[in-house]
Amino acid sequence: MTNDTKGESLEPGNARVVVDQDKCVGVGKCEMLEPEAMEVDEDTAIASMIEGTVLPLERAQKLVTECPSSAISIGDIEGSQTSQNVEQQNAEER
Ligand code: SF4
Repeated sequence: MTNDTKGESLEPGNARVVVDQDKCVGVGKCEMLEPEAMEVDEDTAIASMIEGTVLPLERAQKLVTECPSSAISIGDIEGSQTSQNVEQQNAEER
């Protein structure tokens, strides 16, 4: 396993995060925590995940909890599931 998260396809335990543009206030905490995966657009001051990057799920979840405006959520996990799918599955199992 490598620490280089650029240009890799999703592996088990890796995740992509999604930024809610309406909630992001551009503080840049995510970029500070994961400079190789997150960037704040200079013009719009809105963060996004850099194309082609993934993070280990644990680190992606840390971004979710550390974002001061709750703008970050988990997107794809292991290349197939979205948090919405997970919620749906959980609901179906109840
Ligand atoms: S930490 Fe949250 S509010 Fe700050 S730039 Fe990143 S997504 Fe936006």
